Amino acid sequence: MFKKLLALFSKDIAIDLGTANSLVYVKGEGIVISEPSVVAVNQKTGQILAIGNEAKRMVGRTPAHVVATRPLAHGVVFDFEATEQILRFFIEEVHKKSIFPIFHPRVIVGIPSAITEVERKAVSDATKYAGAREVFLIEQPMASAIGARLQIQEPGGNFIVDIGGGTTDIAVISLGGIVVDRSLKIAGDKLNQDIIDYVQEEYKLLIGERTAEEIKINIGSVLPLKEKKEAPIRGRNLITGLPEEIILTNEDIRTAIEKSVKQIIEAVKTTIEETPPELISDIMKKGIFLTGGGALLRGLDQLISKETKMPVKLVEDPLTAVVRGAGVVLENLDELKEVLVDMDYGDVPQI
Ligand code: ADP
Ligand code: MG
Repeated sequence: MFKKLLALFSKDIAIDLGTANSLVYVKGEGIVISEPSVVAVNQKTGQILAIGNEAKRMVGRTPAHVVATRPLAHGVVFDFEATEQILRFFIEEVHKKSIFPIFHPRVIVGIPSAITEVERKAVSDATKYAGAREVFLIEQPMASAIGARLQIQEPGGNFIVDIGGGTTDIAVISLGGIVVDRSLKIAGDKLNQDIIDYVQEEYKLLIGERTAEEIKINIGSVLPLKEKKEAPIRGRNLITGLPEEIILTNEDIRTAIEKSVKQIIEAVKTTIEETPPELISDIMKKGIFLTGGGALLRGLDQLISKETKMPVKLVEDPLTAVVRGAGVVLENLDELKEVLVDMDYGDVPQI
């Protein structure tokens, strides 16, 4: 009885703790928060100054003692305290709007499938400290497959490639579980860095990360385009030290990111090789599903299809697939409990 009341009055939430962006879904409401996973800290006092959009705006514009960090940027929770602060910020944002704020929410957190047992425990503890009544974890590829409405509980194979900011996570899912998975630290951030390096090398121009990301999104493509795209970028000339503007083309971007894109495709191919043959035949029929913000790069679906000889589909609204999937689990917790991470057994092999 008490449990039912709790469920009625608390605002249960699902969180996608992404390396670049974090999203929050509230039961019965939908997605209510979408903010960059950035925390700005005053290093002199240790005080957290801002989180999310506000903190992102500070990147590269702050005095030396204010550092804006992305605690999950490398795909693992290396900064426990900052992670807890992000979670607390989200949970409190939702919780303070609750009609009965004394009832703490149940929280489902989407975590990268590659993180260790210790890191999972750290996320789970951080969520509890941040104010959750009960914590459930779901692996992000599982959540995005559910968000993409794939039939993950059936025996057929589902192949998911999630290209985020810090990591690309590849997983094969069947019968509600992850059969094969692989994670590499080459994703959107690395492509931005590739563009920075290329512009420095070719044009002796120093540009910032946000400029690189903008140009990648605006004119980037992994295949030659029929229509040439170009855009101006501004930076500082490394020789004269003065500001300068140059015009970059989609061909520049393609050259800059070529090597990293190839590494992502190689990882997809290796995962295909590791997939049991019975599942491969399903995947050949259903196709490979691309998700995460990085999947929006022009031509990537076509290139992966060409290289793997498999159909490739871009999931609808790839930036929100994980949180939408975690939201589906939240709405149907009793039926879908088996897709959650079993914290008691975790990685321990069962005999
Ligand atoms: P994460 O789950 O790791 O937080 P996201 O799925 O939110 O990551 O994706 C963020 C990444 O997607 C960033 O590196 C961003 O540059 C990239 N991205 C977003 N939109 C596009 C786009 N239209 N084209 C290419 N890359 C994009
Ligand atoms: Mg993600």
